[in-house]
Amino acid sequence: MLNKILGKFSKDIGIDLGTANTLVYVKDHGIVVNEPSVVAINTRTDSLLAVGEDAKRMLGKTPPHIVALHPLSAGVISDFEVTEKMMKYFFDKIHKQAFSFLARPRVIIGIPLGVTEVERKAVKDAALSAGASEVYLIEEPIAAAVGARMPIQEAIANMIVDIGGGTTDIAVISLNGVVTSRSLKAAGKDMNAQIIVYARDNFNLLLGEGMAEDVKIKVGSAYPQENILETYMRGRDLVTGLPREVVVDDTQIRDALKRNISQIVEGVKIVIEETPPELVSEIYQRGILLTGGGAALRGLDRLIHDQTQVPVRVADDPLTTVVRGSGIILEDLDNWQEILLPVISDL
Ligand code: ADP
Ligand code: MG
Repeated sequence: MLNKILGKFSKDIGIDLGTANTLVYVKDHGIVVNEPSVVAINTRTDSLLAVGEDAKRMLGKTPPHIVALHPLSAGVISDFEVTEKMMKYFFDKIHKQAFSFLARPRVIIGIPLGVTEVERKAVKDAALSAGASEVYLIEEPIAAAVGARMPIQEAIANMIVDIGGGTTDIAVISLNGVVTSRSLKAAGKDMNAQIIVYARDNFNLLLGEGMAEDVKIKVGSAYPQENILETYMRGRDLVTGLPREVVVDDTQIRDALKRNISQIVEGVKIVIEETPPELVSEIYQRGILLTGGGAALRGLDRLIHDQTQVPVRVADDPLTTVVRGSGIILEDLDNWQEILLPVISDL
């Protein structure tokens, strides 16, 4: 009874707890938080210094008593306490923005495929201690497919490739469930790491991760570009120890990303190979949807199409697909019961 009354006033929320970015959708309000999943902590006082964008600005620039970190790795909680603090911070922030009676919202959280029962429980517990009244978990590729308005409730092949920060998740979904899937480490963070290796090996230049990500976004591509793209890459010269900058173009960065990209393409091929034939023929007709931040890499759609002959399309606003999906599910929770995942404590 009390829950019913509270339910009436509290706003349900959907969370995309990504390795790179955390987004929060509030029912009837849309996306109200969209920030990097980064937390900065003062270890002298054990206090929270900054969360999100402010904390990301501190990465790689902290004195010894401040730690700025991503509490999630490969989409799984690697630091429970910090994840809980981060969620609590976002809940409080929403509360302050006065979306009334949000004190104990019902929460839907997208989690990666292949997360163990123990890890699911950790996510659920973190949300409960951060102030949620009830927690529902869904698999991220399913949330993304719902966000892209794919007809996943039908007996039809819906193929989705979500290139996030920590993992690339490839899934074929039919009848509200994942039929075949693969989760790869070849994703955004690994691409940045490959650019760092390239700069070191070819220019004796040590880059910070922020610089590598910048270069990737400015000139990164998976397929030859019509016009040359160029940018500066700044770092420390490993010989002199002094700052230096070099100009790089899209061809060089494509070379740097080659191994990562080919792992993604191979992953897509493997998932297609493992998918039952009826569904495969539908994939060839209906195509593949790319989503997640990495879907914006220039020419990735074209490369995957070239290598598989399957039509490929990039989702609109690929960074928000998962959280929009959880929003759609929240608006009509009864209709979507079947896709919610059980957690140990519910069993
Ligand atoms: P997650 O779900 O793991 O939080 P996101 O879907 O938010 O990940 O995607 C974040 C990743 O996308 C980051 O690694 C970021 O560098 C990458 N990214 C964002 N924009 C682009 C772009 N234009 N080209 C290539 N990668 C991008
Ligand atoms: Mg994601």
